Amino acid sequence: MTGRESFRRRLFLYYFSIFILFTAVIMVFQYHREKNIRIAALNSRMNDMAGLVDNYINVNSLTKNGNYILIDSVFRLIPVPDLRITVIAIDGSVLYDSSVEDWNRMENHLKRPEVGKSLFSPFGTAIRRSASTGKDYYYFSRYFNTYYVRVAEEYNINIKGFLKREKIFLVFITVVFVAIWALLALVTRRMGESITMLRDFAARVRRGEGNDPGIVFPKNEIGETGKEIVRIYNNLARNTAELTLQKEKLFRHLHVLNEGVAFFSPERKVTLSNNHFLVFLNAITGEHSIEAEGFIEHPLFAGVRSFLDRHQGSPGRQGDIPSTDFHIEKSGRFFGVKCILFHDSSFEIVLTDITRTEQTKAMRQQMTSNIAHELKTPIASVRGYLETLMVNRDLDEDKKQYFLEKALAQSIRLTELINDIVTLNKLDETGSSFPFETVDVASVIREVHDNLITAINKKGISIDIAVEEGLTVTANRSLVVSVFQNLVENAVTYAGDNVTVTIRNLPGEAGYHTFSFADNGVGIPEEHQARIFERFYRVDDGRSRKSGGTGLGLAIVKNAILLHKGEISVRTRTGGGTEFIFSLPA
Ligand code: ADP
Repeated sequence: MTGRESFRRRLFLYYFSIFILFTAVIMVFQYHREKNIRIAALNSRMNDMAGLVDNYINVNSLTKNGNYILIDSVFRLIPVPDLRITVIAIDGSVLYDSSVEDWNRMENHLKRPEVGKSLFSPFGTAIRRSASTGKDYYYFSRYFNTYYVRVAEEYNINIKGFLKREKIFLVFITVVFVAIWALLALVTRRMGESITMLRDFAARVRRGEGNDPGIVFPKNEIGETGKEIVRIYNNLARNTAELTLQKEKLFRHLHVLNEGVAFFSPERKVTLSNNHFLVFLNAITGEHSIEAEGFIEHPLFAGVRSFLDRHQGSPGRQGDIPSTDFHIEKSGRFFGVKCILFHDSSFEIVLTDITRTEQTKAMRQQMTSNIAHELKTPIASVRGYLETLMVNRDLDEDKKQYFLEKALAQSIRLTELINDIVTLNKLDETGSSFPFETVDVASVIREVHDNLITAINKKGISIDIAVEEGLTVTANRSLVVSVFQNLVENAVTYAGDNVTVTIRNLPGEAGYHTFSFADNGVGIPEEHQARIFERFYRVDDGRSRKSGGTGLGLAIVKNAILLHKGEISVRTRTGGGTEFIFSLPA
C-alpha cells in the first residue's frame, strides 16, 4: 500500500468514526425525545380516559350500586380496542377490570407502583410486562377521592419501529456522509501527495541518500511547507558539509602543527588532541604510559591545575580569555606550556618545544660575551699604544712609528673582527640579503687566489685548482668567495710553509656539487675537529690569536654552506694535512 493510500484510508477511518459517533448521538437524542413526546401524549390520552371512566362512575352512581360491570359499555365510546381499564378501591381491592372476568379474586393492587404514586401525585405511571399476555404495558393510574382509575395500553415504542420511522433521516445522513467524504477525498488527495513526498524525503534523508532534486511539491499549504523544509534541509546540508570541511582542515592543521595541542571539556576530559601532544607529554614527564587525560594530576603541571581550580566556573568577562603559560625544563629540553580557558569552562593546552629558542637564546648570550671578550683585547692594545705615545712625547721617531703601526694593526684586526661578526649575523638571519645566482666555481677560486697572492707567495704555498672548468653552482657569489677565501686564508695561516692546497670537485648526490679542499700541512688534531666550526673556537688559542685569527672563519664557512642547504665536514688526510668536504646546490 502506498503512503498516500494509507494516509487516505486512515483519514477515512477517523472521519467515519466521528461520523458514526455523531449519528449515534443524534439518534439517541432523537429516540429519547420521541419517547418523551409519545409518553406525554400517552399520559394526556390516558388521563382523558381515566376522567371519562370517573365521569361514567359518577353519572351512573356506580360507587353506590357497585354495578361496575357497566363500565364495559365505555369501550363503545372509545376507539382503543386493547385498552384495559381497572377500578381499584382505596384499600387496594379491585372493583372492576376490563380484561379479567373474575376481578373479585384479583390480588390487592395497592402495591402496584403506578397506584402508589398516584395517591400523592396527579397521576402515577409504570411500564411492566403482563404475566397473562406476555406483552409490555403502559399503566396510568389516577386517584379520584374514593377509588383509583387505572388505564393500561400496550407499550410499543420499540427501536425497530423507531428506526423505521427514522429511515429518511438515516438515508439523509448517509447521503451527507458520502458527499462530505467525496469532498474530503478531493481535498486530501493533494495534501496526501505532499505528505507522501515529505515522508519519502524524510526516509531518504534518514537513509543518508540526501534530497531528490526531481521532487516538485504541489501548490498547497503542505506543499509550500514541504518546499520550505527541503530548502531548510538543503541549507543545513550545505552548512554541515562546510562545517565538516572546516573541521577536517582544523584536524589536518592540528596534526601538522609543531605544537602539541589538546582541547578539554569542562569536566577535564580530552575532546581533541594531536600526536605531538602525547609525544611532548612523554618527553616532559618521562612516563611513556601517561595519557592526555591524566596529565593534569602530574606534579609538573601543578601550575595548570591551580590555574584551572581558580578560574574554571568563574571565567572572566566576555572578550577577555584567561590564560596562563610557563616553561618546563626536562633533560636539556625546554617546553612552553600554555593553558587557555574558554567561556564554557572548557580549555585548551598548547605544548611547545622551545629547546631551539632557548638554545639560541643561550647561544646569543654566549656570543655577546665572546664578542665583548674578543673586542676587549684589540681595543685595550690600541688604547695602550696611544697612551704610551701621549705620555712619552719625547720618544724617538722609530719608536713612535712602531707604536703607531701596532695600533693600526690592532684597529685592522678590530675591523676584521667586526666584519666577521656582521657576516655571521647576516647569515643567522638568512634573509633575502643573499640573492642566488649561477656562480662559476673555478673563476671564484682564481679570484680568491689573486686576492691573497701576496700571502700565498710569502708562505710558498702552491694552489692546485682541479675543479672542472665551467662547473657552476646556484649560490650567493660573495658567500662562495667568502668560503674559499676563509679556507685559503686558514691554509696560509695554519697549514705551514710550502704546502700544497688542492681544490677539486667530487662525484656527489644529485642536485649538488661536492668539493674537496685539502692541504698537506700540519693538520688539525682529531679531538678538535668536532668543534672547529664553533664560533671563536681556536685549536691553539695563543698561536691563532697571534696570527690574527678571529676564530670566526670556519663558523662563517659552515653557516654559508648551510644557508645553501649544503653540508660540510672536516677530516685528516691520509699522509697528513686537512681536508674539508662540502657541497653546494648545482
Ligand atoms: P680564524 O678565523 O681565527 O682563522 P677559524 O675558525 O677559521 O679561525 O679556524 C679555527 C681553527 O682551526 C684555527 O684556530 C686553526 O687552529 C684551525 N685551522 C683551520 N684551518 C686549518 C688548516 N688548514 N690547517 C691547520 N689548522 C687549521
